[in-house]
Amino acid sequence: MENCIFCKIINNEIPSYKVYEDEEVYAFLDISQATPGHTLLIPKTHVTDIFSYDDVLAEKLFSRLPKIARALEAAFPEMEGLNIINNNKELAYQTVFHSHVHLIPRYTKEDDFSMHFGNHMGQQTENEMTEIAEKIAKQVK
Ligand code: AMP
Ligand code: ZN
Repeated sequence: MENCIFCKIINNEIPSYKVYEDEEVYAFLDISQATPGHTLLIPKTHVTDIFSYDDVLAEKLFSRLPKIARALEAAFPEMEGLNIINNNKELAYQTVFHSHVHLIPRYTKEDDFSMHFGNHMGQQTENEMTEIAEKIAKQVK
């Protein structure tokens, strides 16, 4: 897609620090390394976000994650963990609108990276939880 920075990276129009490539996907270092080895995995087909994937494209991209994860683990034996993150839409911190997955190696609790799963809604009743689950379940197609 024209004017997409990640399409340009795939097409070698702008440089990147490539770590893996095959017919379907491209993986390269995030220019802003949250931790050493912070890698982005992208589909070669331009899709904006998770909502645009079909099953075939999803299989192509997400099936490559264990391969890259193991490569990071082997490359950085001091790695103690790995966060895998996919941001979708601006509110959820997406800034580049060619879908991508972050692989962020973790070394210590002091890494310049953190996540917080709040419990803002508090404890839901059984009925409320069932209602939420059913609302989603009937939309799964
Ligand atoms: P997100 O906020 O999830 O959309 O992540 C986009 C990521 O792309 C950010 O972490 C940026 O540092 C990274 N990024 C932007 N431009 C480049 C580039 N030219 N090469 C590598 N990473 C990039
Ligand atoms: Zn693109």
